[in-house]
Amino acid sequence: MATLQFDIDGQKVEKAAGVKPAELTHIPEDALAVWVNGQVRDLNRPLNEGGQLQFLTFSDSAGRHVFRHSSAHLLAQAVKRLWPEAKLGTGPALEDGFYYDIWLPEPLTEGDLPRIEEAMREIVKENLGIERLELSREEALELFANRGESFKQEIIARIPEGAIISAYRQGDFVDLCSGPHLPRTGLIGALKLTQVSGAYWRGDEKNPMMTRIYGTSFPDQESLQRHLIQIEEAKLRDHRKLGAQLDLFSFHEEAPGFAFWQPKGHQLYRLLEDFSRRLQADRGYQEVATPWIFRVGLWHRSGHWDHYRDNLFLIEREDEQQGVKPMNCPGHCLMFRESTRSYRDLPWRLAEYSPLSRYERSGALHGLMRVRGFHQDDAHLFVRPDQIREEMFGVLDLVDIVYRTFDMPYEVVLSTRPDDYMGELALWDRAERELEEVLKARGLKYQINPKDGAFYGPKLDVYAVDSLGRRWQCATVQLDFQMPEKFELEYVDQDGSPKRPVMIHRAIMGSLERFLGILVEHYAGAFPLWLAPVQVRILPITDKQHDYARSIAGQLRRRGIRVEVDERNQKIGYKIREAQVAKVPEMLVVGGRDEAGRTVSLRTREDGDLGAKPLEEYLIAIVDRARVPGLAD
Ligand SMILES: [Zn+2]
Ligand SMILES: [Zn+2]
Repeated sequence: MATLQFDIDGQKVEKAAGVKPAELTHIPEDALAVWVNGQVRDLNRPLNEGGQLQFLTFSDSAGRHVFRHSSAHLLAQAVKRLWPEAKLGTGPALEDGFYYDIWLPEPLTEGDLPRIEEAMREIVKENLGIERLELSREEALELFANRGESFKQEIIARIPEGAIISAYRQGDFVDLCSGPHLPRTGLIGALKLTQVSGAYWRGDEKNPMMTRIYGTSFPDQESLQRHLIQIEEAKLRDHRKLGAQLDLFSFHEEAPGFAFWQPKGHQLYRLLEDFSRRLQADRGYQEVATPWIFRVGLWHRSGHWDHYRDNLFLIEREDEQQGVKPMNCPGHCLMFRESTRSYRDLPWRLAEYSPLSRYERSGALHGLMRVRGFHQDDAHLFVRPDQIREEMFGVLDLVDIVYRTFDMPYEVVLSTRPDDYMGELALWDRAERELEEVLKARGLKYQINPKDGAFYGPKLDVYAVDSLGRRWQCATVQLDFQMPEKFELEYVDQDGSPKRPVMIHRAIMGSLERFLGILVEHYAGAFPLWLAPVQVRILPITDKQHDYARSIAGQLRRRGIRVEVDERNQKIGYKIREAQVAKVPEMLVVGGRDEAGRTVSLRTREDGDLGAKPLEEYLIAIVDRARVPGLAD
């Protein structure tokens, strides 16, 4: 029998062909699936080729995906036990759970969920083995016809000739599925069905209406409870609700998908933009501004017409079509072409914050998270191939500073060459190798999504984790070997010959609108001092202290501190509560004694009453505390 060589976490292992990953001695106790040469596989599926092998647990997103998808099968099995006439549609995993679309003679309601959960728990207790079957088309059609699964027969008919057809069996239940799956139902330690809705089969209203059942699952009860509490907390922190409550932004029917920034929200927005601007200026970026409407010829040339047309806002004037820009890259390419560039001029780093528009269906719009008008901390780096490594290092440095500043841990995913790639193979290989080297050199935890890169270059996606443990894809760094081709960009190399630069598209926070929405929820509206739209609110106890309060405000403003005076004729307790609700970080209560002694009584949002401080001392201390982090002075 042939022997196979495996590389498991850097260890070389030799095994006979046909070995199951579950049989390897290196398997961690909590393994759910395994990554073999870039493919996620079942622990019980025999291996017939050697190579890179990595076990996946619930802490890997690919591992969670297998767990949740297996939970969807569990749900389907439970429904079939309760309603044998049910017909199965499809049941994918979601970021935080799963759903299954099932046809039933009578649609289900939320009231049915506890009963289904009970049946699911029963199957978990039975700890059924989950087994993969590979079938011929005829066998598959017969199997699902016998089970009355007409939707599955429809799916089988659409599977291309020659493709492997597989199904997964657990006890009396079989589902058509390419997998992979958990080895046993008993691993699904905790589950909760959350919601029921209707969905047309394959999204087409001419098709039958299915019942869509949503749920989530975890290895243990404690993690599930934590997750459910987080969902409740997330509802309280909804950025649309807090945005209105804190007077940050609003939306109007007259301009769907575009935010109206109230003074405080706009302050916040500008702080983010300035933060980015200062970080980038320190690192050799040059800011430019380019037009926002272009003749469609440009979108044809850039390829956006073919791939992005449905998201372009088009305008017709003088019998000519023009489009509002969804991104800055083509404009930057035009600028690159304006003059002859030498190898010494590279890297050329262009930053731009101008408005961008992308058409999104009205139904898809969601507060600041999904808009039609937005701005990015966007930049394009035009580099020589030998500069990719160093520039990527610099970009990841920026990522690190930004996410550390906001107290957000982050994870990086590297997407590599797809089968339909374009460009030179040698350049791809080099770029992918160097990207991995840079990630390792920075000590970053990263995951590889093999073959998931764009056809024009590999990319890094950064997922920031917020204070509720939710993952948000924010930064992207995309290498591009194609756009420089399309725009015929060249630089003169050391030997005098013309060469193509490589383009790096990168955004660190991404859409500033969306990032701000994420920050509102991450901080629950209680922004850190440096970022708070109003940093200090002065609360005079009576109107006799108004002049003193105004003079303190003037001194704070001259020192760059954002301050308000609450001159309303209200009791001091009321003013303090209001400032607390507005989440102002620092409050200065000033009464007659404060004025006489040139002091302020300091209260902070987090620590409450800190007592009287000499005014001069406070002025020095607040400037120090309010400093923007991460910036050199
Ligand atoms: Zn499946
Ligand atoms: Zn770009």
